[in-house]
Amino acid sequence: MKQPDQQDRIETARRIFAGPIAFLKSAPALKFLPDADVPEVAFAGRSNVGKSSLINALTGRNALARTSNTPGRTQELNFFDVGTPLRFRLVDMPGYGYAKAPRDMLKQWRFLVNDYLRGRAVLKRVNVLIDSRHGIKEVDTGLLDMLDESAVSYRIILTKADKVKASELAAVTARTGEAIRKRPAAHPEIIATSSEKGMGLPELRAAVIDALD
Ligand code: GDP
Repeated sequence: MKQPDQQDRIETARRIFAGPIAFLKSAPALKFLPDADVPEVAFAGRSNVGKSSLINALTGRNALARTSNTPGRTQELNFFDVGTPLRFRLVDMPGYGYAKAPRDMLKQWRFLVNDYLRGRAVLKRVNVLIDSRHGIKEVDTGLLDMLDESAVSYRIILTKADKVKASELAAVTARTGEAIRKRPAAHPEIIATSSEKGMGLPELRAAVIDALD
């Protein structure tokens, strides 16, 4: 049985995510960022990790976030306003690790993400998405290092949990927990999700709301 206070958190978060959410703007560079007037919670991950699917599933909207794993596609931060009055912003960070990405695209990604992470006091948390089938890969550690160095709180979210057996999910969760144990800015608890089956979504919504305080 879930504790009542956890039920309350989950219900509060459910209501917020069921309310108004609207695309605000895309920022290909820092000068295009919206004013830093409300807290932000961001989502990041390797291309194809399931980031768009997760943002759409969390918000119950089919096409809020669009899939972004096209080589050469502009690297942008996408901002979404949540709540009326505005409560917080969801930030869809550009995907990384696309095998055929040209070098200057990688450089552009690093500049944009590094600048954003270092200069954004309203950024409360980054949810780093990791595919349940693969666990943390070398391409992910670059981002984790940047988050630790800029002291931005982050949390590992496993995606596509429906694609692995329960025993494999337990193993990858344990392995991932061990891998982040000594990382200073990492939240120790990992949430396993499936956008397809809805698994972990209420807990992730509640974790997003918790991160705002
Ligand atoms: P993005 O590049 O990180 O935005 O990834 P997408 O959201 O576009 O997802 C990449 C692929 O993984 C698509 O074919 C999705 O249908 C699939 N996918 C995403 N989430 C899930 C999930 O929870 N379960 C399963 N089985 N497939 C998923």
